[in-house]
Amino acid sequence: MTEAIQPATVLSVTDLTPNVRQLVLLPQQHKLDFLPGQWVSLKLPVGPHPPLNRAYSMAEPASPSGELTLVFDRVPQGLGSNYLYHLRAGDRVTLSGPHGKFVLPQPSEQALLCITRYTGLVPIHCMIKALETARDYTPVFLMAVGPAEDELLYHFELLSLAVTRPSFQYLPLAAPTEEAAVALVADALSSLLPNKSNAVPLLCGTKTFVHPIRQHLIEAGYQRKEIKIESYG
Ligand SMILES: Cc1cc2nc3c(=O)[nH]c(=O)nc-3n(C[C@H](O)[C@H](O)[C@H](O)COP(=O)(O)OP(=O)(O)OC[C@H]3O[C@@H](n4cnc5c(N)ncnc54)[C@H](O)[C@@H]3O)c2cc1C
Repeated sequence: MTEAIQPATVLSVTDLTPNVRQLVLLPQQHKLDFLPGQWVSLKLPVGPHPPLNRAYSMAEPASPSGELTLVFDRVPQGLGSNYLYHLRAGDRVTLSGPHGKFVLPQPSEQALLCITRYTGLVPIHCMIKALETARDYTPVFLMAVGPAEDELLYHFELLSLAVTRPSFQYLPLAAPTEEAAVALVADALSSLLPNKSNAVPLLCGTKTFVHPIRQHLIEAGYQRKEIKIESYG
């Protein structure tokens, strides 16, 4: 795997929700060989000391054509995400990657308990799509919290997957703040954990969300090292 810096062209720009956007990029020098859950570092020409490095996880598994699909929310006053919101098809960005160790556990027989908030769902979506493509029916329980019902990412796709694939269970939740999201997930976990205690937890989102949920799982009997996390913010 190479991590060299290279330019990439924006192929398309799509709004997934009122405040979440998808960019499809095509690296210009070489294809990135990445695992679901990994991320690229964008080097953005903004801020007091450019480039501003911002990490974005791949939302879709690697494709033969080498496209990278990134999905991000518009952070109020966020330098990086607001810059990305101005990009149009044909524009260029500079990136490096792939990076990261937040990937599917191997061997893959163990059930997964995925807990995400908002765009924390992005790398998990990539993993779920990769399992689906490989016809790998590892049991997955996904608890995905959004800040509002219309900000639930991939909602209809995931609902439909839950109907067609018995090994996939989906619990969408909406909570306006990170604190409310933590409370909602903690409440849902207290009824769920006795049945899910063998599943490997994968948590993703901002630290304010991920760290209290990890603590909750530790108090429920998980070892800290058993819990895989990707946290930021
Ligand atoms: C490994 C990794 C993978 C990531 N993958 C994604 C991804 O797939 N999609 C994505 O939207 N972001 C992702 N991020 C976060 C991303 O790199 C930026 O931090 C985010 O876009 C905010 O940057 P900014 O410059 O706009 O905001 P900043 O000016 O850096 O402000 C960040 C502040 O906004 C809050 N905030 C609200 N939403 C977010 C958010 N999504 N991420 C970080 N902070 C947030 C934080 O609490 C923090 O205080 C990832 C970060 C890491 C480290």
